[in-house]
Amino acid sequence: MRPRRGTDRIRGRRDRGVDLLSVGPTRTCVGCRKRAPAASLLRFVAAGSGKDLRLQPDPSRRLPGRGAHVHPDPVCFGQAERRRAFGRALRLTGVADAGLLAEHIRTVSVPSGTTDDEALLPRHDPAR
Ligand SMILES: [Zn+2]
Repeated sequence: MRPRRGTDRIRGRRDRGVDLLSVGPTRTCVGCRKRAPAASLLRFVAAGSGKDLRLQPDPSRRLPGRGAHVHPDPVCFGQAERRRAFGRALRLTGVADAGLLAEHIRTVSVPSGTTDDEALLPRHDPAR
């Protein structure tokens, strides 16, 4: 009596291997519209529904649903917001609250302890 083999193997999960040929998957930033490695972009999804729609940052890229990508950069965020690219990328019908996403980008794009990027800071214009 031999144990049967082969039929109980777990199948599925076929590797397509397409993306492995290049540097990895690339995605398009909804802000500057440039393609970049997915790892360097911030994924976000739409959470909630109806009037309570908001953009949910998904740094670990695990949330289900349709996602879109943006550079974790306030400049790209601003461009996407101006063009309403978030809603379009996610095929949203309403306007989503981008507060969470904005806050996340602000957090990751300003490394604490570094003040080299003074040029990026808004300059104060003292009233005379
Ligand atoms: Zn960008």
